[in-house]
Amino acid sequence: MAYVIPQPPQAAIPVEGGGLFPVRRIWCVGRNYADHAREMGHDPDREPPFFFGKPADTVVPGGGVLAYPVMTKDLHHEIELVVALGSGGTDIKEADALSHVYGYCVGLDMTRRDLQAEAKKLARPWEMGKAFDASCPVSSIMPATRIGHPSSGAVTLSVNGQVRQQGDLNQLIWSIPETIAILSRYVALAAGDLIMTGTPAGVAAVGPGDVMDGSVAGVGSLTVRYVAAVAKAA
Ligand code: MN
Repeated sequence: MAYVIPQPPQAAIPVEGGGLFPVRRIWCVGRNYADHAREMGHDPDREPPFFFGKPADTVVPGGGVLAYPVMTKDLHHEIELVVALGSGGTDIKEADALSHVYGYCVGLDMTRRDLQAEAKKLARPWEMGKAFDASCPVSSIMPATRIGHPSSGAVTLSVNGQVRQQGDLNQLIWSIPETIAILSRYVALAAGDLIMTGTPAGVAAVGPGDVMDGSVAGVGSLTVRYVAAVAKAA
C-alpha cells in the first residue's frame, strides 16, 4: 500500500569509516552527574534515573551553523556522551547491556531552559524545553569495534574558546550498562535508538554569534555556531 503523503525522511547519522546509522528514538537521562544535579538544585545521592525523549528528527549530524531557536531567551548547552544501539530488547541484563551498543557519538542536549523551568514549576511536560527542532546536534558515530566501550574520558564543552563544562565519564552516577538495563524495563529498546547519558556541571546560556566546541575523549568532537534567526515576513 502506498503512503498517502510523502514519506518523512529517515533521520540518520554518518558513521566513522562509512555508512549511515538510522535513528529510531532518542532517550535522555536526567541529572546523571552529581555536580550537575547540585547546580540544578537536586540531591545527587543516587536517586533513581529518570528519562525524557527527543524526536529522531531533532538530530543535526555534524552540528554546523544553526539558527537560534524560537520561543526562548535562555538556550542552554548540555554536552553528553551518546550511546547508539545496534540491537535492543526489554529487561536487558546489565551484564549483557554493552553487547547491544553499536557505537558512540558526542551530542548536545540543547535546552530551552526558560521553557523547561516553567514546565517544572507548573508540573507540565518537558517537550517544549527539550524536544524542539534541531535540539540534538551530534558528531559522527564511532563504532565500538574501533574504540571499545568507554567508561572514562574527558567530557568538555567550550564556548568561544572558554571552557564551560568539564567532566569525566567516570563521574556518571548511572553507568552505561546500568542505564540501558533500567531504561529497558520502561520501554522496548531497539536498533537505531540513541541514549544521551547526561551532562556534567557548567550548563549555561548561548546566543547568536556564540561558537560551541564539544568533545568526549576517544569518541569525537562537535562544533555548533548559532546565528540570529531570520525574521519571518509578516
Ligand atoms: Mn541532558
